[in-house]
Amino acid sequence: MSLLEKIKSLSQVYTSQVVEFRRHLHANPELSYKEFNTVKYVREQLRSFGIEPREVATTGLVAEIKGRNATKKTFALRADMDALPITEANDVPYKSINTGVMHACGHDVHTSSLLGTARILQEVKDQFEGTVRLLFQPGEEKNPGGASYMIRDGVLKNPQPSGIIGQHVFPILPVGKIGFREGMAMASADEIYLRVIGKGGHGAAPDLAIDPIVIASHIIIALQQIISRNANPRQPTVLTFGNIIGKGATNIIPDEVNIAGTFRAMNEEWRNSGLEKIKKMAESMAEGMGGKCEVDISRGYPYLENNPELTRRIKAAATEYVGKENVVDIDITLGAEDFSYYSQVIPASFYRIGTRNEAKGITSYVHTPTFNIDEDALTISTGLMAWMAIKELET
Ligand SMILES: [Zn+2]
Ligand SMILES: [Zn+2]
Repeated sequence: MSLLEKIKSLSQVYTSQVVEFRRHLHANPELSYKEFNTVKYVREQLRSFGIEPREVATTGLVAEIKGRNATKKTFALRADMDALPITEANDVPYKSINTGVMHACGHDVHTSSLLGTARILQEVKDQFEGTVRLLFQPGEEKNPGGASYMIRDGVLKNPQPSGIIGQHVFPILPVGKIGFREGMAMASADEIYLRVIGKGGHGAAPDLAIDPIVIASHIIIALQQIISRNANPRQPTVLTFGNIIGKGATNIIPDEVNIAGTFRAMNEEWRNSGLEKIKKMAESMAEGMGGKCEVDISRGYPYLENNPELTRRIKAAATEYVGKENVVDIDITLGAEDFSYYSQVIPASFYRIGTRNEAKGITSYVHTPTFNIDEDALTISTGLMAWMAIKELET
């Protein structure tokens, strides 16, 4: 039997166990940076395969599977483990038992899948050369991003891996399909908080007040000009304000208005200059109208660029594994992922695993209370990632 066939058959054999892992994690979700029981569970499984992990980033794990000639090359595989503050609406036997917390982004799938991949690699470790490093990270859903803590704690050192890959469930793609994208892939995401300060008063006497509602309205409209007039039209960018609070009344001008929004970019240079422009314009407009604007920017994840060569190679490996008809190119998205931190250090590629199945009624998007996956995706994802890692160690 070829190694490819062996991996495929092992992924079949281990599917039921991986589904069990996924359902356990799904029923017991934990919020970002609080993945204590998840880490305990993942550690126990790894140990049962004969793999000894090391604790990093408080609620993260790193482990290695050494093949023959282990120092030849190291390649890294990443999974995220945190859940979201959402109350699950699915009626399934493995429904979340932690009220108000749900694996609505599929990180239970990523974690259980990487466990399956680890088990397969451990079983065939005398059939490849080099080392596979496994990264189980906390806090993908919350700034500053668990990936930044993993890197701080040295997971990309001693030795530095030649590259890293990560996968994400994708409810747009039917189960069986795998999606790739070279280069520009996902956006940076920064949070913008504006506090527009005026001077409250009677609604019938605006001359005695400084109206922060009018100032805030001008700022919101004016800031969109930065997107339409300053941003490079060939690079997608978004500025959205989804929250505005001004607590006056029909006849009361309030003292202040608070606005919150998100700024997204696909170029680090533009990201920095865009944020600078937003701050300057908001401050100076408020000042010009007799008020004041305090600008608070909470920096989120950087822009994600998938290394073109690495992406081409893992796509070729996927073509061998699932067939050309099941490998698709996907579009950019202005969503953000903290996997991008790894891409700033070493060649990285993030791909999508199809989880949709209309016949089974599985169509909900991530971050919704009815999100679920077709678990057949796990049979593919475990072996596929093992095959990609082995091919990468061979190059
Ligand atoms: Zn998410
Ligand atoms: Zn996610």
